[in-house]
Amino acid sequence: MKSHIEIQLIEKSKIDSVDFNNLPFGSVFSDHMLEIDFKDGAWQTPIIKPYSPITLDPSAKIFHYGQSIFEGMKAYKDAEGKMMLFRPLENCRRLNKSAERLVIPQIPEDVFMDGLKKLLEVDSDWIPTNEGSSLYIRPFMFATGNGFHASPANAYKLVICTAPSGAYFAGKVKVLIEEKYARAANGGVGFAKAGGNYAAQFYPTQLAIEKGYNQVIWTDDNSHQFIEEAGAMNIFVRINDTLITSPTSDRILDGITRKSILQIAEDAGIKTEVRKISVGEVVEAAKNGNLKEMFGAGTAAVISPIAGFGYQENDYDLPELENPFASQLKKKITDIQTNKVEDPYGWRV
Ligand code: PMP
Repeated sequence: MKSHIEIQLIEKSKIDSVDFNNLPFGSVFSDHMLEIDFKDGAWQTPIIKPYSPITLDPSAKIFHYGQSIFEGMKAYKDAEGKMMLFRPLENCRRLNKSAERLVIPQIPEDVFMDGLKKLLEVDSDWIPTNEGSSLYIRPFMFATGNGFHASPANAYKLVICTAPSGAYFAGKVKVLIEEKYARAANGGVGFAKAGGNYAAQFYPTQLAIEKGYNQVIWTDDNSHQFIEEAGAMNIFVRINDTLITSPTSDRILDGITRKSILQIAEDAGIKTEVRKISVGEVVEAAKNGNLKEMFGAGTAAVISPIAGFGYQENDYDLPELENPFASQLKKKITDIQTNKVEDPYGWRV
């Protein structure tokens, strides 16, 4: 059964003021947003309304105790005008996993999917068709219930808003392998897309940027000897012809791009390994020429190749390859996402 959705359309669209050939990432917003409130123990009627500010009580618990989670996904439009999402239920399920950890109520999958699809229908003109562009979708949930008591709120809001976007990173990035700070700890919330995880990354990332790097590669919080993730991406390392990524855990986000890339790589005959990657192994491989590639994988950038890394005051460059796995895999996954090839996995929706 489809849930009832209330629709309040904008009086005049802003779309004519947007230069679709020059889109930054995630800073131009489509006309409408979806809002669903949770109060009195139940999700209320979803509303699609003009993109507009949200008014909250100063004691709303989001401001004090950080009950806030989000997701990131993309919609594409092909040459025939067909709209597509990539594995959207995975995002909905991960949102609910994050919600459980932060004591935010579960959103029923059908309510999420119906609301999202309706929002995309209403704002379908905002889905860019240029190569590399897409409509970035940002679902988020946070505590609107108020009071200074440090306990879960009794009211929440789910919002989905969208931003037509160009490519996330322009080129290759230089990363710093972190030895002091950690983004997540055992038993913590690293596996959740909790807003606070990102707030905690900003300071070490800023220090890395001041040293001339673009991103931090996070290591485990205990020994700092194992590579875990890259900012808002999972990490892949290619040593000789083997593509390696760290196993997910309660410290690492279970990335949808990561697991899709693993599947595509295996099916393309690339040898893959999911196992712990020690910093020592990567440094050693860089020194003896066996380290061929490193790249991040995530919705925003899809695949972000790494040009080199810094570790303990030393910099290591990666070779320029003719036809790197990063480009091969990026093409394969984006061709599926944008309906250029058959989707043998049933990922396209
Ligand atoms: N790790 C972190 C910390 C992230 O924020 C993201 C972005 N969602 C990812 C990995 C990649 O996940 P996905 O491929 O599902 O976007």
